[in-house]
Amino acid sequence: MPILAPIEGCPLCQSDQFYRIPFNDKGVDRAKKRLENYEWRLCKSCANAYPKPAPTLSELQTYWDQNRVDTSERQITEQVWQARQVQDMIWAQRAYDFVTPHVVTAQHTYLDIACGLGATVECFQSHGWDALGIDADPNTKEFHLKRNIRSRIGQIENMEEFINFDLISICHAIYFITDPLNFIRQVKRLLNQQGLFLVVISDFTSNLSSGQPGFAHTWYPTEYSLRVLLQQEGFKVVSTKKIRGSILMLATAEKQDSCRSSTVRVFWTYIAHVSQSVRYRYIGQPFLSLVRRVRRTLNR
Ligand SMILES: [Zn+2]
Repeated sequence: MPILAPIEGCPLCQSDQFYRIPFNDKGVDRAKKRLENYEWRLCKSCANAYPKPAPTLSELQTYWDQNRVDTSERQITEQVWQARQVQDMIWAQRAYDFVTPHVVTAQHTYLDIACGLGATVECFQSHGWDALGIDADPNTKEFHLKRNIRSRIGQIENMEEFINFDLISICHAIYFITDPLNFIRQVKRLLNQQGLFLVVISDFTSNLSSGQPGFAHTWYPTEYSLRVLLQQEGFKVVSTKKIRGSILMLATAEKQDSCRSSTVRVFWTYIAHVSQSVRYRYIGQPFLSLVRRVRRTLNR
């Protein structure tokens, strides 16, 4: 009796039909690329982008060990910390302003997954939320203590003692999750009825983005594929906003029967990926340098 090969397709829908898309090969071991034909694929069924072969957990661990926020050899200086804090607080306030109009009065418990240095947790806490952050990197803990916020160090997948939350967010980190389907189902289990789920992703198809999917990413959603995935898992997308090369998407766990499914625009997503570096070079880059020049002039 023949042994069935494991499904090798898209991690979200298992389709084996795909387009090849450009990727950032920094961090991809040369031998791995040569021997195993490392590449990025765009699923023709659900428009999700994913690497083949997928990095193993030990390869990802090695990558993250080399890229922690703080090591004994490379301490974050006070100056870098201050600059990072200002930038983080701007994004935290954007997230807060985006979510606020959709919050019901009684909602006040908040969990920020992959909270990093903790700016978003601090921001919500300062507005009266009972906020908690979780991050896998133990080196972030000292920054949480500095900010006087509640946090846990570890993987969300391994923590079962959580209470339920009114709002859960994951900002610029959902593409590092190794099992996206299980992750989104776990978020749904952790949310209260009418709970809100905020996802912020870098929009690699934007004119303003020079980024591409890379070795640290285990999958990569676009606006379309993320919307379809959330709807498929029983969420209703209530708001979407694009800010400076990022996409903010807010969904509620309370699915409404009248909710219409979105169309997956796979071909246009493919065109957006393959044309991204040219659009950045001829539109995004000149625009961003013009903005920088205007700011310098105004600050004189
Ligand atoms: Zn798919």
